[in-house]
Amino acid sequence: MAEIIQLNTDSNSYNIAIGALKKIDLNKYSKVLVVTNPRVSALHINKLLSCLDCKEMFICTIKDGEQYKNLSSIEFILENAFIHKLDRKSLIIAFGGGVISDMGGFAASIYQRGIDFISIPTTLLAQVDASVGGKTGINNSFGKNLIGTFYQPKAVYIDIDFLATLPKREFNAGISEIIKMAVCFDRDFFTWLENVDLINNKSDLEYAIFKSVSIKADIVCKDEKENGIRAGLNYGHTFGHIIELLGNYSLYLHGESVGMGMCKANNLAVLLNKLDIKDSTRISNLLRKYEIPTEYKIQDLNNFYDKLFLDKKSQNNDLRFIIPNGIGNMEIITNPPKELLFEAMSI
Ligand code: NAD
Repeated sequence: MAEIIQLNTDSNSYNIAIGALKKIDLNKYSKVLVVTNPRVSALHINKLLSCLDCKEMFICTIKDGEQYKNLSSIEFILENAFIHKLDRKSLIIAFGGGVISDMGGFAASIYQRGIDFISIPTTLLAQVDASVGGKTGINNSFGKNLIGTFYQPKAVYIDIDFLATLPKREFNAGISEIIKMAVCFDRDFFTWLENVDLINNKSDLEYAIFKSVSIKADIVCKDEKENGIRAGLNYGHTFGHIIELLGNYSLYLHGESVGMGMCKANNLAVLLNKLDIKDSTRISNLLRKYEIPTEYKIQDLNNFYDKLFLDKKSQNNDLRFIIPNGIGNMEIITNPPKELLFEAMSI
């Protein structure tokens, strides 16, 4: 399968190429800095290097893990860029999962007020979601992705063969973002997902990646800075980000936290009569098919509730949630009744 999806925003237009990675001509750049981590580098750097045609190239390897998606890692990338004397005509390539694409993009957006970057995602989650759309960022002690920029890449290259080395748990976690796209935006895609096998059938997987990226690209074209419909991509994330934070970014994977967060959002949607209980069960069943956890016991409801106010969608102390309005549609609701919210959180 070889597909090109075009993403046009006010700030940039770029191609997302899906298919086997081929030679990339980067000779217009003075220097190239590849940002990656030890695990991805050990597995795949040779393949990447064989595809880069450029004048001068350096590799910056940062520590692996969501717990290192922080300001110290950004400083490390920037220091590398200064040590190798990258200039405004240089390029950063983010080569890894969503953690690397978020940080590589962020570093590129602030180095010398912004240099070009390209994303080459190597996890399913990054291929279907994180590498596309230009949201960059890092975590801090207050929460997840609270520091960052909107900064579009110059290109994205998605090669499904990188996924062959991905551990099963990581692969499954990526499927939760595919399910998220379907629940919020495409009922037919959801029904299709219920009937296919993304683990054992490569062409099903390729189609699911293509479809997810197409949905995301379409939404980002309409609403780059998340003033409206793009907020739908945060379905499951309002609750999920707190689940991740409470697990110190190491207990659950991002995609797993989003899966559990989607189920909490579904509870709320059912209580508000926006989602049929049968459809809520269909969503949970699809998540469970890929061993994504669907239940999460909140130990301290009041503490969890307080943390909801740090969500980036919360404005003027209003709480906003993305919930499915039936499968294939989403709705943004503001300040649902507190008793209903607590009930949804406690299920
Ligand atoms: P990750 O980047 O931590 O990667 C998961 C693990 O897989 C890491 O240990 C990594 O080293 C390893 N890995 C990567 N590629 C591999 C390969 N081909 N083979 C074997 N191992 C490989 O996590 P993730 O799930 O890719 O991304 C999660 C991050 O993405 C979160 O920080 C989340 O906030 C972010 N995200 C961003 C957006 C966005 O729009 N910017 C959207 C969704 C998620």
